[in-house]
Amino acid sequence: MISVEKARRLIRRNLPSLGIEARQLDDCLGFVLAEDILAPISLPLFSNAAMDGYVFRTRDIQKAAKENPVLLKIKGTIKAGDQGARSLRPFEAYRIMTGAPIPSQGGAVLPKEEAHVKANFLLTEGPVSRKHIHFAGEEIKKGTRVLKKGHPVSPATVGLLAALGIDKVWVFRQPRIGLIATGSELVQPGNALLRGTIYDSNAGMLGAALQNMGIRRVRMKTVSDRRAVLTKTLRRALRESDTVIIAGGVSVGEYDLVKDILNDLNVRTIFWQVSQKPGKPLFFGKAGGKLVFGLPGNPAAAFICFYEYIFPALHSMMGFSKPGLRRELLAIATDIKADERRTLFLKGRLRKGLKRKEVMPLGHQGSHMISSLCQADCLIVVPAWKRVIRKNEKLAVHFLP
Ligand code: AMP
Ligand code: MG
Repeated sequence: MISVEKARRLIRRNLPSLGIEARQLDDCLGFVLAEDILAPISLPLFSNAAMDGYVFRTRDIQKAAKENPVLLKIKGTIKAGDQGARSLRPFEAYRIMTGAPIPSQGGAVLPKEEAHVKANFLLTEGPVSRKHIHFAGEEIKKGTRVLKKGHPVSPATVGLLAALGIDKVWVFRQPRIGLIATGSELVQPGNALLRGTIYDSNAGMLGAALQNMGIRRVRMKTVSDRRAVLTKTLRRALRESDTVIIAGGVSVGEYDLVKDILNDLNVRTIFWQVSQKPGKPLFFGKAGGKLVFGLPGNPAAAFICFYEYIFPALHSMMGFSKPGLRRELLAIATDIKADERRTLFLKGRLRKGLKRKEVMPLGHQGSHMISSLCQADCLIVVPAWKRVIRKNEKLAVHFLP
C-alpha cells in the first residue's frame, strides 16, 4: 500500500506524450493549442464605424455651436462590405453603417439618433465628444502573440482564431480511451432488474466525465466477471486505446479478476492499493506507452479516484498547462474526525459567508453513495497524519468541474 502523494508521483512520472496534430478550426473545441498563435492580421484590420450614423472631418465642425450650426453636404452612403476607397473633402459627410470602412479624412461618426438632417445636409451644432470609430489595430497588432501554447480551445478561442482568419491549428492529440465497467450484477438503465442485480452507474458516469473533458474518442463497454469475456474485452481495449479505464473487479474478491488478466496481457503493475478512503483498491499499470487505471466498483469511490488521479493524468496528456482540479486552501465549517492512517476524500460544498469562504463536508460519505455527489462541488482532502480537524482549520479543497 502506498500513500496518495506517492501514487500521484508515480502517475505523473509515467505519462506518455501523444504528440500533436493539425485540426480544422470547427473541429478543435476542447483540444489544447500546441503552438503560439501570432496574429496574421491586425484587428480591426481597417478603421470602421462603431455606429450607424454620419462620418465627417472633425476639423470642419470645430467651431460649430447651437447658434452657429455647420452644414455638411451628404455625399452618399457607405455600407459594411463596401470596397471602394472614398475620401471626404471639406464640409462633406457620408451616411455610414456599423462596420463600414471609414473614408480617408474621416475623423468621427455622429450616431444617427443624434443627427439633424435637412434636405441633403447634416446640421452639426457642436464638436463631437466621442468618435464612434473602431480604429485599425486598436485591439491587436499584426504579429503579436494572441494565444499561448497550452491554451485550451474554448468557444471564445474559436471566435478569435476565426476573426484572425485562421482555419487550422496545431493541437495536442487527445488520448483514445477504452472504458470498461465490470460486474456480473450489472444491468443497463432502461432494462428490468432481476433479483441480485443493480443498474450500471459507473459506465454512464465515467463516460460523462470524459465527455465533459472534451475527450472525443471513448469506447465504452460493460462486461460480466467471466474470465474469457473480460480477457477479450481488455485485450481489445489495450489494442485500440491509449488509456484503459476499468471500473470494478480490482479488489480482493474471488471474482475480482482484472489484475490477474491484466498481468496475463503483459500490463506491468505500477501500484495497487493506496492508503485512502474511499478508493483503496486503485490500480495503475502500464503496457508499452499505454496507461491502465483500475477503479473500485463502488460508484462514489470510482468518481473520486477518477477526478483525483485520472482527470489530472488525462489533462496533462491533453496538453493543459495547469492539469488537474482547481485547488484552494479553505477553512472547514465543522470538526472532522480524521483517519491517522489514510487520506480521506470528503464530498464537500463551498459556502460563501459575508466575510469568507468555507467548506462543509456533506452527509452520505459512503463510497457506494452518489446522491451526495450531486450536491458536492468539491472534494475536501483530509491528510493521513491528522487525528482530528477542528472547525476553521484550513485544508486543501479540490473543486469539481
Ligand atoms: P467491485 O469493485 O467490483 O468489488 O465492486 C464494489 C461494489 O460496487 C459492488 O457492490 C458492486 O456491485 C458495485 N459496482 C461495481 N460496478 C458498478 C457499476 N458499474 N455501477 C454500480 N455499482 C457498481
Ligand atoms: Mg465486481
